[in-house]
Amino acid sequence: KERNGQEPEFLQAVEEVAETVIPYIVKHDIYYGKNILLRMVEPERVITFRVCWVDDNGEIQVNRGYRIQMNSAIGPYKGGLRFHPTVNMSVLKFLAFEQVFKNSLTTLPMGGGKGGSDFDPKGKSDNEIMRFCHAFMSELFRHIGPNTDVPAGDIGVGSREIGFLFGMYKKLRNEFTGVLTGKGLSWGGSPIRPEATGYGNVYFAQKMLETKGDSFEGKNVVVSGSGNVAQFAAEKVLQLGGKVITLSDSSGYIYDTDGIDVEKLAFVMELKNVKRARISEYIDVYPNAKFVKGKTPWEVTCDVALPCATQNELNENDANTLLSNGCICVSEGANMPSTKEAIAAFHKAKILFAPGKASNAGGVATSGLEMTQNSLRFKWSREEVDNKLKDIMSDIHKSCLEYGKDDDGYIDYVRGANIAGFVKVADAMLAQGVV
Ligand code: NDP
Repeated sequence: KERNGQEPEFLQAVEEVAETVIPYIVKHDIYYGKNILLRMVEPERVITFRVCWVDDNGEIQVNRGYRIQMNSAIGPYKGGLRFHPTVNMSVLKFLAFEQVFKNSLTTLPMGGGKGGSDFDPKGKSDNEIMRFCHAFMSELFRHIGPNTDVPAGDIGVGSREIGFLFGMYKKLRNEFTGVLTGKGLSWGGSPIRPEATGYGNVYFAQKMLETKGDSFEGKNVVVSGSGNVAQFAAEKVLQLGGKVITLSDSSGYIYDTDGIDVEKLAFVMELKNVKRARISEYIDVYPNAKFVKGKTPWEVTCDVALPCATQNELNENDANTLLSNGCICVSEGANMPSTKEAIAAFHKAKILFAPGKASNAGGVATSGLEMTQNSLRFKWSREEVDNKLKDIMSDIHKSCLEYGKDDDGYIDYVRGANIAGFVKVADAMLAQGVV
């Protein structure tokens, strides 16, 4: 706390892990007395850099770029790049720390990292986005590589941005390697990577529901966000027979009691990915729905809630509202969307609750599969990758059961994910000595 006092999101993420992992360390001699958690909370390397670029008016703009190389005990650093005005050291360190545990859970050999910039892509032209991405990579390229650090997308960084970033990396290094994931299908990308985080989250929720002999069939599902994760979570819910009744963005949420079906979802994808417009425009085309300005969708009665927008978007009041409306399952698509108090409320009510580091790990897992395909110079089919994704989500679920089952049979997925993620990284760090 003394060293990281100015970093609230990072402290929040570390506290959540420490609360479940310290009691485990205390009971296991191989970890006790080795300051292993103290080593894990200190990034191996933090890089910040200036990003200068010229906007369409000819004005010079300056942003700050970051890469947090958190832990490489089990593989090259791996984690997304976020372009959003709220990006700062605290947010990126929390994300990088979570990424270490998440990547460990995927069963694939990937360390943890995260990066990005306080650059705001909203309202920027394609040319401005390209100039910014090129400027950003003209510094980042010297710190990354296919065996060192492999960034991917996150908020504000989708396939368009990955293309511009990859183009500049390739030019500067004069090599075509799998240095970034989330690439286009025709130039090294993996099938299912765009869908993977949202699909994986729903596969994980399905596993949780199965523990109760239940399924998505006929369930009312509230989804927040309308970006990459939210869109494909919604798509998979529909395929499994559920009804998606909300989506949102930072301006508010839409509520469609008739359900957001395949056709309406295609409209949302076009609206957000091509026109880059606001979710409120949904009601212009589907006037039966309503738009609730400035609010999150947790007040809508549902069976399952999938927070897929951003950190701390679901607080204790929201959790209590969801519970009193009969919600039985919350599965996080975003990173740390539920506050600590909200998680405590879900645990107290003993409903199914999955933390993002377990339930949204399908994205990075499929990025890991993209790295494998790039190394092999080979491409698997959509079905092959989807089946591997399903298997990985099922394995993560099993790991959570192994370490998270309470005496009364309730599954604490937070404890399960934290300990399972910790054990693999800690064992590797101990084997490699004090480095
Ligand atoms: P996108 O940029 O595609 O979409 C983000 C969505 O969240 C948008 O609807 C955006 O609305 C909304 N949002 C962002 N910031 C805020 C905010 N401060 N308040 C309210 N709404 C907000 O990002 P992704 O879908 O890729 O990421 C969503 C979450 O999932 C993040 O937490 C990310 O870290 C996590 N994640 C993503 C993975 C991936 O593979 N993409 C992998 C694992 C986790 P608006 O358009 O108004 O900004």
